[in-house]
Amino acid sequence: MQTELKTNKLIEQDKEHLWHAMSRYNEKASPMIATKGEGAWFTDINGDKYMDGVSGLWCLNLGHGRKEIVDAAYEQMMNLSYFPLTLSHIPAIQLSTKISELLQGSYTTFFSNSGSEANETAFKIARQYHTQNGNQGKYKFISRYRAYHGSTLGALSATAQANRRMKYDPAVPGFIHVPPPYSYRSLFGENAKNSDLLAADYIEQVINWEGADTVAGVILEPFISGGGVIIPSNEYLKRVAEICKKYDVLLIVDEVVSGFGRTGKMFGFMHSEGVQPDIVTMAKGLTSGYLPLGATAVSSKIYEKFKENGSNNHLRHISTYGGHPASCAVALKNIEIIENENIVERVSQLGKTILGELHDLIELDKVGEVRGVGFLYGIELVEDKVSKTPVSEEFMGAIIAACKNKGLIIGRNGDTVPGYNNVLIIAPPLSSTEEDLRFVVDTVKTVLYQLC
Ligand code: PLP
Repeated sequence: MQTELKTNKLIEQDKEHLWHAMSRYNEKASPMIATKGEGAWFTDINGDKYMDGVSGLWCLNLGHGRKEIVDAAYEQMMNLSYFPLTLSHIPAIQLSTKISELLQGSYTTFFSNSGSEANETAFKIARQYHTQNGNQGKYKFISRYRAYHGSTLGALSATAQANRRMKYDPAVPGFIHVPPPYSYRSLFGENAKNSDLLAADYIEQVINWEGADTVAGVILEPFISGGGVIIPSNEYLKRVAEICKKYDVLLIVDEVVSGFGRTGKMFGFMHSEGVQPDIVTMAKGLTSGYLPLGATAVSSKIYEKFKENGSNNHLRHISTYGGHPASCAVALKNIEIIENENIVERVSQLGKTILGELHDLIELDKVGEVRGVGFLYGIELVEDKVSKTPVSEEFMGAIIAACKNKGLIIGRNGDTVPGYNNVLIIAPPLSSTEEDLRFVVDTVKTVLYQLC
């Protein structure tokens, strides 16, 4: 009785005072209040257990309760609780060095607190780089429809998802959108071959149409994640990288979701041999969500232009908490675990098996396509395979609710394009046990076989 009263009170306070991200206000629905996490699972305030099939917000890559990570934060906070990066501290030096090593190039990193900030930082660095390189007019950025790059106004301007933007436009000037490499709904014709490469060539056209001397950079995720798990061939990024190089346009790769093993490589761009981005942005999996941290790594070619001693060429950018010592210590421990436990290789191997199993669902009338890479899967649901009409929001809601009733949390592409929120998204923690993964696959299959 006492517990029930306490729970009801918390729900009341939640409804009154806590503003939930992305959620419509719903007087009748009770919020899901988590109280405890263990590995890939969490328990809610009613004592019900759930497998987190989306790793929180695709970030809880090593699952809950890794003592080594918590200890790293504790020790760092006891030793040096805060220090700004206008000066320096050891965890930040070590982490920036480690990031450069992982990126297999020579990179210098600016730290912030989130993926949005990491992308904002990238835009400012890119514009300033071109100015200091004698190309003052190069200020525009190209990104793809359906992409999500963050919630702050610059990152939201790169985000080309109408529903997320419509109440906040006009966006920041200078952001241009191009078609995604979306073969299932290709803009280049139903039967176009290599439509992902046509989408890459379209970027070249746009650079020419806009004037190459006005374009600063192309920003993209190696695989569009939140916009519906869109997986081009590995050739796509290679082609985009070649185009960027040809026109002195910086290739900014957003690895906020795909970084640190999610796709079965340490970074998503590494699926495309020979691609070496000019700028790489990171967050989420960098700390497995244990503490906030964003990172913008720039290649030496760019950093050179900020190095002239005594000049006025430094970056006018600062973040009080960016590169917090505890966050950096957590990131270092997180990366150490990923390496010691061969997480990336594990995701690559197991990921293929899971995708194979999910692919069986294609025989269902309402399953249009099953896509995936590593531990990132999208199941696109349609009314029928010929018209490809997206299923309704209500239908998507019913599938997600049925999974939840069975103890599995999965997601969908939210607020991407009006009427096209029809891709189920599954992205379990990279450390999920084989039993956990079995549960995910079996539950999704059971529900879809029942409802599709
Ligand atoms: N970039 C991508 C690809 C993302 O998916 C996200 C968040 O989901 C962001 C950037 C923004 O990250 P944050 O929410 O940490 O600001």
